[in-house]
Amino acid sequence: MAFNPADKIQDLQYFGEFGGVNPSVSDSSTYTFLSAKSMFDTFEGNAEGCYLYSRHTSPSNLYLSQALAAMEGTETANVAASGMGAITPVLLQLCGAGDHIVSSRTIYGGTYAFMKNFLPRLNINTAFVDITKLDVVEAAITPTTKVLYCETVSNPLLEVADIEGLSKIAKKHNLKLIVDNTFSPLSVSPVTMGADVVIHSLTKFINGSSDTVGGVVCASTEFINSLKSVNDGASMLLGSTMDSLRASSILKNLRTLHIRIKQHSHNALYLAEHFEKDGLKTVYPGLASHPSHELYKGMINPEYGFGGMLTIDAGSLEKANELMELMQERNLGYLAVSLGFYKTLFSAPGSSTSSEIPEDEQKDMGLTDGLIRFSIGLDNDIERTYNMMKACMVELGILSA
Ligand SMILES: *Cc1c(COP(=O)(O)O)cnc(C)c1O
Repeated sequence: MAFNPADKIQDLQYFGEFGGVNPSVSDSSTYTFLSAKSMFDTFEGNAEGCYLYSRHTSPSNLYLSQALAAMEGTETANVAASGMGAITPVLLQLCGAGDHIVSSRTIYGGTYAFMKNFLPRLNINTAFVDITKLDVVEAAITPTTKVLYCETVSNPLLEVADIEGLSKIAKKHNLKLIVDNTFSPLSVSPVTMGADVVIHSLTKFINGSSDTVGGVVCASTEFINSLKSVNDGASMLLGSTMDSLRASSILKNLRTLHIRIKQHSHNALYLAEHFEKDGLKTVYPGLASHPSHELYKGMINPEYGFGGMLTIDAGSLEKANELMELMQERNLGYLAVSLGFYKTLFSAPGSSTSSEIPEDEQKDMGLTDGLIRFSIGLDNDIERTYNMMKACMVELGILSA
């Protein structure tokens, strides 16, 4: 693949103000102007390189934004205080009263709740569709549709969106294609396949240490400027601003993302293959049994693999809970929501991160009670981890010895 996102990150050279190897942190909410005229120009958006106020932007936030834009191959980017703080302004910037969204039905619970329960208050309505069926997606478009929304690899069912196919539909109907790429940083570069806007929750793999929330919108300069407009920009006016200290710490973690993603993918593939062989119902895009395996193989930058997320079905919620508790007791990971941590994290999405989705809809989309979502950690010896996990499953009667 010609575009290698990790090389783009590596090629960024930032010096601190005293020649530090890390850029200096801007510990200021506001900035002085040498003349009143340059203050006026900055407010009018005409003074490149001038800082106004840290809700608009700060040097530290710009460094991180530039690095993430380089990674996604967009002109620029804007970081936010959380993933939801990136997603909600994008939707509100692109849609007004009377507008319509077509979205994948298997998306992050918070995004689903925002579209399903919050946006209708503003008379913005969403059709939730099976994103893997391009004809169904296209049939859901109405004359008022403005946005086509999906996750590259969906939460929690790990369905794969055909971004190239969706992009053709979006262009034909003059829609913006928004892709949440949180599960697949580096592995997939949605802009190279025609996405208009790429969003990440930095909280997950990109930061990787489960010590902060954060988000980013990667897009054209025109769109990012509209989000940041002091007059009508949803990011600027809703105010979900990242703190500069956090931006600098996330930037340092971003520098090791390629190493971590390779290890997450290596470990997840190992476990998925072995769990499947053992007879567990396992979903992982790297398995030939995954319905979108061939599609995904063609989408990823193979160096970074199929990602760190997999699901298994433990049979029932009761068994799933017993297994997660036992694995935590044996220090194989933590019973916690979120993902992308160096330790394995597991949760039962039906009763946690996807509990916003009504039960009948959960059933309809294949979200079963016994489903456990794993974010596989950076374990050094994955065979050892596998053997210990298998012992837990045998002990609980989920697998036979
Ligand atoms: C976690 C997550 C979000 C929300 O991000 P926060 O940082 O928790 O606000 C959005 N999309 C996906 C796919 C996520 O996993």
